[in-house]
Amino acid sequence: MAEEHTYVVRKPCPVCGETSRIVKVKSRLIVEKTDWDYCTHYRDINPYFYTIWVCEHCGYAADENTFLAYMPEKHKKTLSEFLVKHKVGFKFHEQRGLPEAVASYKLAIYYSEMLEESLAHRAGLYLKLAWVYRTGGKDDEEKAEEKPYLQKAAELYTESVMRERYPIGPLTDSMAIYLSGACYYLMGEIEPAIQTLSRLIGDQDLRDVEPKLYDRARDLWQDIREERK
Ligand SMILES: [Zn+2]
Repeated sequence: MAEEHTYVVRKPCPVCGETSRIVKVKSRLIVEKTDWDYCTHYRDINPYFYTIWVCEHCGYAADENTFLAYMPEKHKKTLSEFLVKHKVGFKFHEQRGLPEAVASYKLAIYYSEMLEESLAHRAGLYLKLAWVYRTGGKDDEEKAEEKPYLQKAAELYTESVMRERYPIGPLTDSMAIYLSGACYYLMGEIEPAIQTLSRLIGDQDLRDVEPKLYDRARDLWQDIREERK
């Protein structure tokens, strides 16, 4: 059962200042497999359902790092003004299912767009929303709902590499390129996937600087070319 793997903490909300209950996932999880875009499938629980923290009072939602980080006054003002007018009313759930998880990501994405957070950050939220459908969908039809979000992630990563200054947190520009290539592949868009990954395969520096990423990109690229035959 999921509750053996979660616990509840209380954290101050960066927007309204009230203390909200937050469900966290214990760290020891058994991995079943990891996909090309780093989506990991776990045996007993789906930690992606709990990635987004939601304030049970005002409805602010963000990933843990953003929720705990210092929030500029300007952002606080924008969000409070919005949240006063719109009753978000996200009920606290000690166990989240797919609908609650999806709703939490949609809120986080909405606020990150309102605050014009980096394209790379937004891409990461869309990518994880895709993972929520892939790992949490009960059948193929529900799992396929990941596609528009993979598309969005691929586009935003590509745009981010052109417009933003890297590294962004731990994310390098090569990693962002790799992720957009992997997203295209998983959507079944083979040509854009090959084109995107080729940018990395041809990069001799990458081989020295990020050898693991280089190998992964090359392995995926070779797999795709094999599949295409
Ligand atoms: Zn709040």
